[in-house]
Parts: sequence; C-alpha cells; structure tokens
Amino acid sequence: MPGKQKITVAYGDGIGPEIMQVTLDVLIAAGANLEFDVIEIGEKVYRKGIPTGISDDAWESLRNNKVFLKAPITTPQGGGFKSLNVSTRVALGLFSNVRPCRSFFPYVPTNHPLTDLVVIRENEEDIYSGIEHQQTNEVVQALKLISKPGSERIIRFAFEYAKAYGRKKVTCMTKDNIMKQADGLFHKIFDKVAREYPEIENNHMIIDIGSAIIADRPHSLDVVVTQNLYGDIISDIAAQVTGSVGLGGSANIGDEVAMFEAIHGSAPDIAGLDIANPSGILNAAVMMLVHIDQAEVAEKIENAWLKTIEDGIHTSDIYNKDSVRKVWTSEFAKEVILRLGQTPNRLRPVSYKSGASMKKIELDKYVVAKKELVGVDVFFDWNEKGRDPKILGDSLKKINTDALNLKMITNRGVKVYPDGYPGTFCTDHWRCRFVSPDEGNEVSHTHILELLSQINSKGFDFIKTENLYSFDGERGYSLGQGE
Ligand code: NAD
Repeated sequence: MPGKQKITVAYGDGIGPEIMQVTLDVLIAAGANLEFDVIEIGEKVYRKGIPTGISDDAWESLRNNKVFLKAPITTPQGGGFKSLNVSTRVALGLFSNVRPCRSFFPYVPTNHPLTDLVVIRENEEDIYSGIEHQQTNEVVQALKLISKPGSERIIRFAFEYAKAYGRKKVTCMTKDNIMKQADGLFHKIFDKVAREYPEIENNHMIIDIGSAIIADRPHSLDVVVTQNLYGDIISDIAAQVTGSVGLGGSANIGDEVAMFEAIHGSAPDIAGLDIANPSGILNAAVMMLVHIDQAEVAEKIENAWLKTIEDGIHTSDIYNKDSVRKVWTSEFAKEVILRLGQTPNRLRPVSYKSGASMKKIELDKYVVAKKELVGVDVFFDWNEKGRDPKILGDSLKKINTDALNLKMITNRGVKVYPDGYPGTFCTDHWRCRFVSPDEGNEVSHTHILELLSQINSKGFDFIKTENLYSFDGERGYSLGQGE
C-alpha cells in the first residue's frame, strides 16, 4: 500500500468539531489511507484580527497537502471580515463547485424521489468579481465578467466529470437570449466543447426554464453546468427539492487544490448538543476519497451510510414517524461504522471505479482575433431639462468630432434618441454611442480623447466610457434595445 495521503482538516465552528470528529472516526474505521494535518480556521482566527479567517501556516498546509476537508465556520457579522470561502476559492484557484443532489426517498421526504443530479458551478468569475460602482444618484452598476478560459475550463470539467462518474448528459444553463455577449460566449464554448464528447448527450436551457425544471422535474437532469450566480441559486434549489440540504456534500476543485465541505453552515443554535447530522461532511469526505483515488473506501462508506439511513437510524433533523431510532451524532457514526461492508437494499447502492478521479483540464489554444476600435459609449450623469432625451441628443449632436458622431442614446438599455418612445421612463444615467460617420470604420484612442475633451468643455458630467470593438470583424458589444 502506498504511503498515507496527508490531507488538511479544519474542525470549524459551531457543530463543526462534533461532525468532523465523527467523520474522521468513520474514515479511519473504513481504512482510508489518510493522515490528518489539522489547521485552525474561522471564528477564533477572525478574533485574533486576521480578516481572512485563515492564518499563514494554514495556507502553507493547504498548498502542501492540496486536499482540504473543511467543517463549516461562523462568519462574524460586520467588522470588515472577509468570507473564508471566497478567499480560499480565489487564492487556491478552486474554479469549480460540484454539488451532487440525490434524493433518499422514502427515508428523507421529497416530492421528487428519482432525483439524482449534479450541479457544476463556475466559481471564480461572473458578477462575483465584486466590481460595483455607484455612478449617478440613481444608478449603481455591477460588472459581470465572463472569460473564454474561465468558461472553457468549467465546461470541460463538467464533461470530464460526466465521463469519470458514468453520467450520461450535460445540460448548460445560461440567459443568452438577453446577455448575448457574456452568456452567448459561455453557450458558444459549451457547444464547441460538447462536440468533443459525442458519447455524452448535451443540451442547453435558458436559466429561468432550467430552474423551473429543477423544481418540477429534476429527474430529467443529470449534470448541469452553469455560471457562478445561476449556479449559486440553482444548486440550492436542487438540494432543497431532494430534501438533502442537511445531508449534501460539496466540492470546490481547482487544478491543484480541492476543498470538500457540507452544504450547511455551522448551526450555532445546536452546537455542543450532539444532535447535529454529520451526513453532509461525511458525504463531502466520500467525494474527497473518490477525488484522491480511494474509490473503494468511498464506496464502502457511502453504502454503509445509505444502509444506516435505510435502516431508519436517524438524527433528530430527519427523524420521522417511519424512523426506527433517533440517535445522537456520535451514535449515528457508530451505526455507520457497524454497517461498513454492507450495501443498502432499497436505496440504490453506489459504485465508484478506481481511477475515476478526473484528468487535468487542458484548455484550447485560442487564435488571437484582430481587434479593431470602432466607437465608444460615453455614459453621462444628466438630470436637467426634464430629462428630455431630445434635448440631450441635440446638444451632443453638436459636439461631433470628424471621427466620431453620436449614433444613439439609451437609458437603462432602451433607445431614447433619436426617435425614442415618448413614454420611456428615464433615470439620470445615459449611455451615448459615438461611432465613425462611416460606421464600422476604425477610430483611435486620440479620437476618443478629442471627443471627451469637447464633452468636458461643454460642461457635461461623463461618468464612464466603454470602447466598442470588433473582433475579426464581428461586433463585440450589444446593440441598444430598439437600435
Ligand atoms: P446553517 O446551515 O448553519 O443552519 C440552518 C438551520 O439548519 C439551523 O436551524 C440549523 O440548526 C440546521 N442545521 C444545519 N446543519 C445541520 C446539521 N448538520 N444537522 C442538523 N441541523 C442542521 O445556516 P445559518 O444558520 O444561516 O448559518 C449559521 C452560520 O454558518 C453563519 O455564521 C454562516 O455564515 C455560516 N455558514 C457557513 C458555511 C460554510 O462554512 N461553508 C455555509 C453556510 C453558512
């Protein structure tokens, strides 16, 4: 047997220490080939004045061991503390969040007994970049950033996951009917990558109908891949419809490091009472074992856990009229240990192949497209003259340079000049598009500076500019509604 694999373990806060201890007991009893390197994270560390909730030594342990089994922590409110989850995700490049959502009916109540889906969520980009600005009295902007490599990485990951775990279908969810550029890019890359996996079925759904399907017919989905914000929302819906919020584990996986944890939080209301359900972190530990190629032990633990649930041995959170015995946290773990080697009868047993751990994701080499500057959107804070778009438009028309002419004005994305609809409600935030008189012709940064200088000399408050580019002749910006 090869040497023990060292993993980093954090006991966390609230119920964390109770559920982590019994989980490690099960891992040891099942013969997991592991050594534990314990670090301190969370409340105690925050209180020492470390705003990330994790000390330098702990980072060292994570970077060395590359596998992290983490109990939930309590994030103190206020005081400039940073979310430990966000810091770890970003610092360790954990680009994918994997959340299996399976129903355990009839032992755990659900309206969707056949559900067995996995949500794979991009973890690093999208609206979570946290780039927000208040630009006028009335309007705040949050930037959604979607990159080619970020999208390709998570989409490839989803297909590789499907392959490694014997899943049949990958569904992509976006809102590309509205965000034609950002979500359009994600969808386009999905279609391209999907062609490389002909053995796996694929389809695309608009996120709103996709969410409705998760709530109504989750059994029709297998692997779902999506961007950060949509994934955040649908993974909770999916866990909720299976009834498994308290039971589910999740993984955050990067090229080098992977972190495994329960879906739930630190439950301070029941801390220290020995009544918490350790299943979430135990299931996360099972995911970890498959990830590090200890599939046999993973299978043994999960099947013993399924048998325990099936035998009606339940902690108080899932105890119901059909349960056989209500048990403490520590007792539950002992019951799982007693069943190691057994498989469930009614619930479907799991089977994990050795070597199922996933191959490293290699990204395509992109050809750098020819990028041409073809115009500029200048954003204004303008709150004069009854906010009449015609007055703004007519005065901006007068300050055209030779290279850049006003083409249109939108307010909250809707075209209001020229020929706007008189009833459109206008805020104090205006997007004014300037392009070459021969539209599509290249312009320069100097032209934009000349334009801005003229705008400035006329006393307008411009709050931001956004250059308009084409890439290999293809428009790289959206049209205004009605343009
Ligand atoms: P929570 O998940 O901790 O608790 C919600 C409810 O579910 C509570 O009634 C709790 O008693 C119950 N519950 C949760 N886990 C349970 C378990 N294993 N067994 C039985 N009952 C369980 O959510 P919350 O109350 O919103 O958050 C509490 C703290 O946890 C907050 O400080 C929050 O920031 C933190 N949190 C941490 C993580 C994490 O570390 N990954 C995730 C979510 C929340």
